[in-house]
Amino acid sequence: MDRRPLFVIEASEAKSMAESSGLSSVVDLLPTLLQPAESLCRPPISGFPVVAVGLGSSGRVFLGVNLEFPGLPLHQSVHAEQFLLTNLSLHSEPSLHFLAVSAAPCGHCRQFLQELRSAPDVRILVTRDPSPPTAGAASFTPLSRLLPDRFGPADLLPEEIPLLLEPIDNGLRLAGDSLPDGRKDLVSAALAAANKSYAPYSGCPSGLALMDSDGNVYSGSYVESAAFNPSFGPVQAALVAYLSDGGGDYEKIVAAVLVEKEGAAVRQEQMARLLVGLISPGCNFSVVQCVTPCKKVSSSM
Ligand SMILES: [Zn+2]
Repeated sequence: MDRRPLFVIEASEAKSMAESSGLSSVVDLLPTLLQPAESLCRPPISGFPVVAVGLGSSGRVFLGVNLEFPGLPLHQSVHAEQFLLTNLSLHSEPSLHFLAVSAAPCGHCRQFLQELRSAPDVRILVTRDPSPPTAGAASFTPLSRLLPDRFGPADLLPEEIPLLLEPIDNGLRLAGDSLPDGRKDLVSAALAAANKSYAPYSGCPSGLALMDSDGNVYSGSYVESAAFNPSFGPVQAALVAYLSDGGGDYEKIVAAVLVEKEGAAVRQEQMARLLVGLISPGCNFSVVQCVTPCKKVSSSM
């Protein structure tokens, strides 16, 4: 591939890429996309790039890469699989079917993937070989085999609660009467992201929007894990949007707005402020509180 790899490949494009490479299916295309995308990874601490390429139910192909942040605790890092799931969520992809990844998914990511309703059936291929898999789709292993005896949403939530990638509206409203002046676009984007946030365990959704020096806005939603620690922060989610939409250096980020619930038991502000301030020291960071009029997080919790 001689052009910059894309973070989202439309279904028709993925099909024609497979055909022009003489491959029998888009599934066979997935491992061939791993190596060319290594240049998009940002692992300044480990120097170990990890790429994940997923095929969604729409036929679109999505990319995920790992990100590390010098100066912060390691658990603030973004794993390629987390980037990938956030990328699917940002583009309203309903489910993930196949996943090729350049290194074996760590325990943390096997756990994070459990938030998908289809988790046991997601098929995974671990390979550093850029050629198509010899046995096609049969080369992929179901996640249920990589993580047997799983702990997941079913252990904590009623079945009717929407899971990750399923439509969610948290029904949040700003705590004040109107949008603060000056940053209406950013606040609106952060509120929309908070309303899509997947936080069924704490009931404390949040969203964050970033603006770059060209005035472009990127937003991301906080995502929880049943095991708590693999939960994915709103800054990290917004950075996935920033990078997948073509954003460059982090220093180009000039403003950030976090929207979270008034009096929430789980709050993002301090960590988000630290992370944003470290990657873009000149960035203006603000927090806007919101409320839930109907006292609910998702459809029936
Ligand atoms: Zn991982």
